[in-house]
Amino acid sequence: IDAFVAVGGGSSMDTAKAINVLTSNGGNIMDYEGIGNVPKPVYPLIAIPTTAGTSSEITNVAALVDTKSVRKYVVIDNKIVADKVIADPEFTRTVPAGVTAATGLDAITHAVESYISNEATYLTKYNSLRGLQIFYENLPKVYENGNDMDAREKMMLGCIVVGFGFSNANLGLVHAIAHTLSAHFGLAHGVANACVLPYVTAFNAEKCPNEMIEMAKAINLPLTGDEEKDKFALANELGRMVKEMGIRPLHEQGREHKITEADFDIIATDALKEGPLHFNPRQDVTKETIIEILKKAF
Ligand SMILES: [Zn+2]
Repeated sequence: IDAFVAVGGGSSMDTAKAINVLTSNGGNIMDYEGIGNVPKPVYPLIAIPTTAGTSSEITNVAALVDTKSVRKYVVIDNKIVADKVIADPEFTRTVPAGVTAATGLDAITHAVESYISNEATYLTKYNSLRGLQIFYENLPKVYENGNDMDAREKMMLGCIVVGFGFSNANLGLVHAIAHTLSAHFGLAHGVANACVLPYVTAFNAEKCPNEMIEMAKAINLPLTGDEEKDKFALANELGRMVKEMGIRPLHEQGREHKITEADFDIIATDALKEGPLHFNPRQDVTKETIIEILKKAF
């Protein structure tokens, strides 16, 4: 083997990163869970994304699912970053509207969560905000017309812009809940994020109204000048967008098992153990908070 070539969406690229680690380091991939636990160098990796959303082509993360303990976990190491990226929008031309919407809404989630993250800096916020603008403007165009290659190109590059933001500032409560929904019910990552994004954004707006208004202004949402109302403008708009993009509410999701309200307890319990939660602006997240959010998303 001279090198690995990863062609596909986030899961394909993350799988290639994991196989690359195992080929040169041996053992079980769970041995490398966490940050900086890959001891030996890995083979060169060329990433060719076929969706615009995950930013896996530029991140040092491989997100994986442990099917035994039913949880999502990550291997984070600078050694696993792709050496070359071919970001050609032509590879996304035939992506169906539903997948375009889900992956694009994942990128919007990355932008919003990293912008308000505890770890956000001037530099990461610049990338997050610009990424939000690019996706907000171009995702609806591509959803309507998959052959709009100008908009597809902007999304492909926007994915890298926002990737610079969130891979340094990290994510938050949306991803904590989404990882759990994907691990338990097989929901696609972008769909799981989109289901809870508007409600978590409204929840976080109480802590960071200024940032919420900055994001709303950046995408030209109409504002009233009343902070109490304007801090929810982004959350409301995201709710509208998610609906318009055909993302069905939580009770209509689920691959093998339908999600019911009886599942909320275990989802909330597991989401509280998720790493991204450490970076959420509101740290007063309890099991009840998450159950409330799930009820709204249901
Ligand atoms: Zn994501």
